[in-house]
Amino acid sequence: MSATILDGREYATAIRQELTDLAIQRNAEVGYTITLAIVVVREPNAATVNASDIYTRQLQRTAQSIGIDCRIVDLPLTITLEEFRVALHDLNEDKQIHGIIVQLPLPPHIDREVLLDTIKPERDVDGVGSFNAGSLFLNLPARVSATCAAVMEVLDRAAIPLDGKRVIIVGASTIVGKPLMLMLLQRHATVSVCHIYTQDLSLFTQQADILIVAVGKPGLITSTMVRPGAVVIDVGINVLPDGTVVGDVDFTAVREIAGAITPVPGGVGPLTNLMVIRQTLTTLDNVVFL
Ligand code: NAP
Repeated sequence: MSATILDGREYATAIRQELTDLAIQRNAEVGYTITLAIVVVREPNAATVNASDIYTRQLQRTAQSIGIDCRIVDLPLTITLEEFRVALHDLNEDKQIHGIIVQLPLPPHIDREVLLDTIKPERDVDGVGSFNAGSLFLNLPARVSATCAAVMEVLDRAAIPLDGKRVIIVGASTIVGKPLMLMLLQRHATVSVCHIYTQDLSLFTQQADILIVAVGKPGLITSTMVRPGAVVIDVGINVLPDGTVVGDVDFTAVREIAGAITPVPGGVGPLTNLMVIRQTLTTLDNVVFL
């Protein structure tokens, strides 16, 4: 029997409406239009459009459609770390800015960790700084990776129970695999994380009640690697030479085995920007930043 398709676009429609209502309420509370800053490092007047430009435009459109402002901060490729940190300090001090996102990748001379830790933790709406990473580790209120929040949102909207479930995450990056492990542990799942050195990956994936894949390798997960009836969440985004976008899971074959599965595109992806906006609109209560 074919799996239930977990339709991220359908969930996104409902979340967009919820966030639009929240934006009206929050803008009225603060007395101005809440603003998300997107910091982009690029060649001035570059002729080509890259993935980061496309993401920036999508995020800007989403923010504006929900009723918050977006400020694009363009910085040159030659910017020094200190100049970059001053630009972030200015955004930290701007009362209208409630969220800051720095588009990656950064030029090689910029120390990513030092730079990202310049963002005030409450405004770190993609959970990239060490304060939020530490807070998540300690089960304290935290800004989290928007991609991980999107995965949790798909699981919750689909009413998939997590307590005591065996979750296998394939991919151990600091932006997806590792924070997701902590978020699922907080929800009482039993979590294993696989990575490039994992031997016999299928031994792990076949045990999963819930299999989450975030690697960036098309076709990595085949139907024989999935337990019948499992929930499969595909975070991967891969552009094939012919321009087709696919995930890390062989969707056509695995949907015949799985109980539920996210498509790519149209699964986790449509929710990621919305999670950035949600974290821009919400406050972290009871947290004192020193
Ligand atoms: P990343 O930083 O490159 O991390 C990839 C992870 O996969 C690493 O932990 C790596 O292991 C592991 N890995 C590589 N080959 C493997 C293999 N053959 N078997 C098992 N594990 C393997 O990538 P990322 O930033 O986490 O992104 C992962 C994917 O998610 C990409 O396709 C990206 O485009 C997509 N993504 C989607 C969204 C969204 O909104 N849907 C957002 C962010 C990312 P090691 O740690 O040992 O190197």
